Amino acid sequence: MLPCTLQSQPVLSTDDSALVRILPSENIRIDMRYATDNNVFGRKFYDEPKAWLTKPAATALFRAADSLKTLGFGILVYDAYRPWSVTKLLWDAVDSTRKKYVANPAKGSRHNRGCAVDVGLFHLDSGLTAEMPSAFDDFTERASILYQNCSEPAKKHREMLRNVMVWAGFKGITAEWWHFDADGWEQWPVLNVPIR
Ligand SMILES: [Zn+2]
Repeated sequence: MLPCTLQSQPVLSTDDSALVRILPSENIRIDMRYATDNNVFGRKFYDEPKAWLTKPAATALFRAADSLKTLGFGILVYDAYRPWSVTKLLWDAVDSTRKKYVANPAKGSRHNRGCAVDVGLFHLDSGLTAEMPSAFDDFTERASILYQNCSEPAKKHREMLRNVMVWAGFKGITAEWWHFDADGWEQWPVLNVPIR
């Protein structure tokens, strides 16, 4: 079952006409967990550990990164554009109690549009990952932005990340502290182009 807006033309690009690649820098680290087996499923879903976003989403991410840098933090990118076929694999991999944490392939995901990004923080001085209320893709109540039974630094980092991402042009969701949708995501098609 493919969503009706699915676009299969190759659009990954290194120019600004389509999706643009987020390259690692001093304050942006790329840690694409679904290109490894270091994720909640313990298996790899795609080969290339590369982060692609639409240009507006990438611009907003860079704006957030610049702001976080002044606060002493870098951005860790855990996932960005994800082909529709990967959303289908993820949907099939979770049991019914955890379906709320993955997008329904019938509608496609905002990740499939290159408009969603999963992020955490690291300390620029030490390089260490900043403490959060849960690990990335911990599909439990700890992932909720409303979860309070965690340390004060974890709460502070979660709030700071959200405040800066929203200021930069994203919307957060309640169920996952790490997930952000770029404003205007509705205007972009669902894509099924492999990451390369
Ligand atoms: Zn996400």
